[in-house]
Amino acid sequence: METPENSSKLSAIVQSSEDAIISKALDGTIKSWNPAAEKIFGFTEAEAVGKNISIIIPEEMRKEEAGIIAKVKNGERIEHYQTMRRNKNGERIFIALSVSPIKNDEGNVIGVSKIARDITKQKSDEQKQSMLAAIIDSSDDAIISKDLNGIIMSWNPGAEKIFGYSEKESIGKHISLIIPKELMDEETHIISNIRAGKKVSHFETVRITKDGRKINISLTVSPVKDRNNNIIGASKIARDITEKAELDKQRKLLTKQLQELNNYKDEFMAMASHELKTPLTVIKANLQILESKIRTDSRADFVNKALKQVNKLSDLISDLLDVSKIQAGIFELNLTTFDMVPFLTEIIDGIQQTSTEHVLVFNSDVKKIIITADKDRLEQVVINILTNAVKYSPNTEDVQVVVSLTDKKVVVKVTDQGIGIAEEDLDKIFTRFFRVRGLASTFSGSGIGLYISSEIIKRHGGNIWVESEKGKGSDFYFSIPVD
Ligand code: ADP
Repeated sequence: METPENSSKLSAIVQSSEDAIISKALDGTIKSWNPAAEKIFGFTEAEAVGKNISIIIPEEMRKEEAGIIAKVKNGERIEHYQTMRRNKNGERIFIALSVSPIKNDEGNVIGVSKIARDITKQKSDEQKQSMLAAIIDSSDDAIISKDLNGIIMSWNPGAEKIFGYSEKESIGKHISLIIPKELMDEETHIISNIRAGKKVSHFETVRITKDGRKINISLTVSPVKDRNNNIIGASKIARDITEKAELDKQRKLLTKQLQELNNYKDEFMAMASHELKTPLTVIKANLQILESKIRTDSRADFVNKALKQVNKLSDLISDLLDVSKIQAGIFELNLTTFDMVPFLTEIIDGIQQTSTEHVLVFNSDVKKIIITADKDRLEQVVINILTNAVKYSPNTEDVQVVVSLTDKKVVVKVTDQGIGIAEEDLDKIFTRFFRVRGLASTFSGSGIGLYISSEIIKRHGGNIWVESEKGKGSDFYFSIPVD
């Protein structure tokens, strides 16, 4: 029987309950709303009471709700029914609901009481769990857990695929099932790491399959902790890297073979260039004598043509010899101290004399720039960059050389308005034998000059680089430390 004492006890229970306790009339009007309902749904008692229950029922759940209410009107009670509601912010929340009819003294149903428990966290934990389980099930890697005694506790399909044992065959067995005898020490080492709370990452080792094959695997082992942070076991992720290990082996072998072939080629190039140089020097000397003797003769023209080609050949052989020296690590500098301004002026004048179509303009703000460098080698660099600027700008006439000085280095910039270089080739032009594709038919060359130039500049402690746009021209730069 309801007494004032009973009623106040009940009220205290409703007020302090963790679950939302709501009552409503049969038309859905909310009649009571406890503090837990406010906590779960966000509406205060004043905001909720008098409103229709639809304030917490999402559109898509209304039909379901009507079905429940129909049952309750018939006197039925619905227990722990899981459904979805929305809170004041419109966010969806999962609840477990018990719905009971409220009857009057005559036993007629006059309203409904609802007890709702927020199970959003539980639901999201469940979802996370099933997501994790799905990941483990579908992983190609073996994912295994074991206790601190090495007894296998879980074994995913990936482990079955890699090691051949089914889940049933492996759970409860010792992990030594898949460890080769000679590597048993590893397990002791891994377990001692795990006991100390340490992870073992990407450890490459060998394991043994059910059919006795040895496979290469990459292993990551992490400690597994219980709720109180005690280490209770280890989880292992193992990836089969047998194929990778085989590829690595082959790659190493091929690299070694390539290296050997490359060495043979370098040795051959050094030997051939050397053997070619001697006879060529003799031919050149004799042609020069011949040329001086028949200078006024009509046959001198033939000798001149032959001399020109011999000079080209001689330059190419010198370049090849330089490359060999660089490869063999015996490329040495002969350093002297000199002024760079007259040095550059002289080279530019020399090239100007042989170039009728181009005008070479030299600009230097500074009158004197003292550097310590190998003069011949530096001359080789300047000639290479300048003759390239002339060669690769056939339909324009300006080539500019600008020198600038900072406190630590001198920068030489050579500008042409020629064919330019595509972006994808910019970082390749300083490598050995590289020439931009499709040039050979129009411009002769060997693709060695810039490689040697960059080696010379690097050995001086400087830098060489290029800025260029295809069809618009190029700016070649090199820098050398100043004294
Ligand atoms: P090459 O004997 O071919 O000129 P280099 O090593 O001097 O050899 O140059 C390498 C390549 O860089 C050239 O073949 C050419 O494609 C490109 N190159 C060099 N200088 C220029 C320039 N001023 N303009 C356009 N392309 C250039």
